Amino acid sequence: MLEVKDVNSFYGKAHVLNDLNFRVDAGTVVALLGRNGAGKTTTMKSIMQLVKPRSGTVTYKGQNITGWPSHKVARDGLGYVPEERRIFTQLTVLENLEVGRQPPRDGSTTWTETMVFDLFPNLAERRNNLGKALSGGEQQMLTIARTLMGNPAFILLDEPSEGIAPVIVEQMARVILQLKSEGLTVLLSEQNLHFAQAVADGVVIIEHGTQKFVGSLSELQAHPEIRDQYLSV
Ligand code: ATP
Repeated sequence: MLEVKDVNSFYGKAHVLNDLNFRVDAGTVVALLGRNGAGKTTTMKSIMQLVKPRSGTVTYKGQNITGWPSHKVARDGLGYVPEERRIFTQLTVLENLEVGRQPPRDGSTTWTETMVFDLFPNLAERRNNLGKALSGGEQQMLTIARTLMGNPAFILLDEPSEGIAPVIVEQMARVILQLKSEGLTVLLSEQNLHFAQAVADGVVIIEHGTQKFVGSLSELQAHPEIRDQYLSV
């Protein structure tokens, strides 16, 4: 469904991604793993074309989207949830969801507020609260919920378990598995291997912007030395 081929990305002269090559098959969850500063966010931004790869291609559903404006990438069905929570603090939960609403898209789930609240019961209870009154974990959920209202077929989650309470991390893992059962394809970035193991089918490990491992979760589990070398556990 998504293919990243020989992608090189830079910030000015700094060469941050080196020849990344991986695929995310439809209906799977792939975890992009690596330590702080490994290049996970830059990989997501390069897929969304928020950072334009200097060489290489990003193909989505067979179409080369490299160089497209990011809003067009989003309109094509890729929903991006950045690490920093981007909610409207002065709007209520319901209003935040309304802002994210997009027309139905062929082949993807058409999300309604009711469906989103089934997925995130905490948000249902707080539907009339202002964004600023939510906890960090709730704001994270609202960011995902608002992205779902855009009816993406593919969702990119940048460090969904970062900075939230352990009980919410568990909920987040359940949510990701539910999204997969809805037919969404998911690419998430993580430093938390434990979390990734609970949800991922496939794994891509990067270090200093270079890919060190691509394979299934079970292949990674069969090679603890790879885990020990490239991830903080
Ligand atoms: P984190 O877990 O901290 O988010 P990451 O794996 O997502 O890390 P990136 O944020 O992609 O890593 O950063 C990769 C490298 O690019 C780092 O060395 C970082 O310092 C550098 N970098 C990130 N953003 C910029 C920027 N806007 N300008 C210059 N360098 C940047």
